[in-house]
Amino acid sequence: MTELFRDHINPGQLHFMKLLGFNRVKVERAEGMYYIDQNGRKILDFFGGFGSLALGHNHPRILAARQKFQDEQRHEIAIAFLSQYASALAYNLAQISPGDLDMVFLGSTGSEAMEAAVKVAERAAGPKRPKIVYAENSFHGKTKGVLSLTDSPLYRGEFRLVGDTVKVPFGDIEAIRRAFESDPTIGVIVLETIQGGGGIIQAPEGFWKQLRALCDKHGVLWVADEVQCGVGRSGKFYAFEYENVVPDVTALAKSLGGGKTAMAAMIARREVYMKAYGSPKTAMIHAQATFGGIGEACVTAIETLNVLYDENLIENSAKQGAYLLQRLEAIRQKHPKLVKEVRGRGLFVGLEFQDFSQTLPMVLKPMVAMLDDKLKGSLSGFIGALLLRDYGVLVAFTEYNRNVIRLEPPLICEAEHVDAFCDALDDLLSRGIT
Ligand code: PMP
Repeated sequence: MTELFRDHINPGQLHFMKLLGFNRVKVERAEGMYYIDQNGRKILDFFGGFGSLALGHNHPRILAARQKFQDEQRHEIAIAFLSQYASALAYNLAQISPGDLDMVFLGSTGSEAMEAAVKVAERAAGPKRPKIVYAENSFHGKTKGVLSLTDSPLYRGEFRLVGDTVKVPFGDIEAIRRAFESDPTIGVIVLETIQGGGGIIQAPEGFWKQLRALCDKHGVLWVADEVQCGVGRSGKFYAFEYENVVPDVTALAKSLGGGKTAMAAMIARREVYMKAYGSPKTAMIHAQATFGGIGEACVTAIETLNVLYDENLIENSAKQGAYLLQRLEAIRQKHPKLVKEVRGRGLFVGLEFQDFSQTLPMVLKPMVAMLDDKLKGSLSGFIGALLLRDYGVLVAFTEYNRNVIRLEPPLICEAEHVDAFCDALDDLLSRGIT
């Protein structure tokens, strides 16, 4: 398998997976909070597929809904038919979404939903306001359009960027104010509500209220990327709900597929949508992709939302997230030379280590020496993730700040799982990482 991956998929990524040791985790199956390897050993999943497993692995209700759909031998393709499944999912999303976030576009990936989000905003802003503001350390996807809003040399490579963009520091309302005031051709601002790849970063309190007011004042459309922090991960369905504000456009993906399928949605305010695509002539401009809104994915997403509410998983995310932060803060105070900061909201949590890359454990030196130059630098999160694996715990680090491990367990997480993770971390740090 390793050779096939290397020869036909991505030799570079294999190298990276080897460094992380993920290739040595031979997963046979997965259930709830755990991966299970070929020896029946359970591996606690605090990685959570980069936030795509709100319901955990193989939730029985998701399996049942998908099985029922298959047994009924329904048709799949929504692009050429009126689909009851796509319509029902869009209705549910409109009900859940605050304000007049009513119009839904269905796709398969976060990148696709973000492309759709930027497109609807760009058209609604009009041709005289083509500029798009985005944030430092942002991640919005790797497809060609949104790559230009993804602030990473790692992902951008030497690809040519597209569109007219203006970059501001994340969460800096004054920088945004200056940009809006000095440039009337700015029409759109695109921000993750909580930055994921950037290191699990939140904007200062009150930022979103101020942003909403600034956007209203200057007629700029706000696109909120909730691909990772949405679907309850932050402890609210959307993280922007913490400030009782409504963006003009938002995007969901990842967990919307119930951990079983690719499903994504762009949701726009009715008024904004109508400005962009209100005329029948725009039908083809806005048409979905071949697999947008396919039956099985919609059925899965509908059941995902049902489970999320029936099992009170959004409240659980807030509750267990608070407990996790409390335990991590105690660990930070116990090991201040190793842990710099813990932060997050709900079960979207980052733990930033001090930079101990300079005093690497001997065993890791040869591995780190193999890293591409672009990946060198601060690596404490990378090292921490690697060492935690030996405790039967899976976590990942954040792409841009590699001193940070990201903790995104399924929202079905209970106190015993938080304890198991924190006990492992505490033991690792007590033994001394360096
Ligand atoms: N936006 C954000 C905030 C993300 O975290 C991601 C994925 N990590 C994306 C967009 C892109 O999603 P996908 O990988 O499904 O294309």
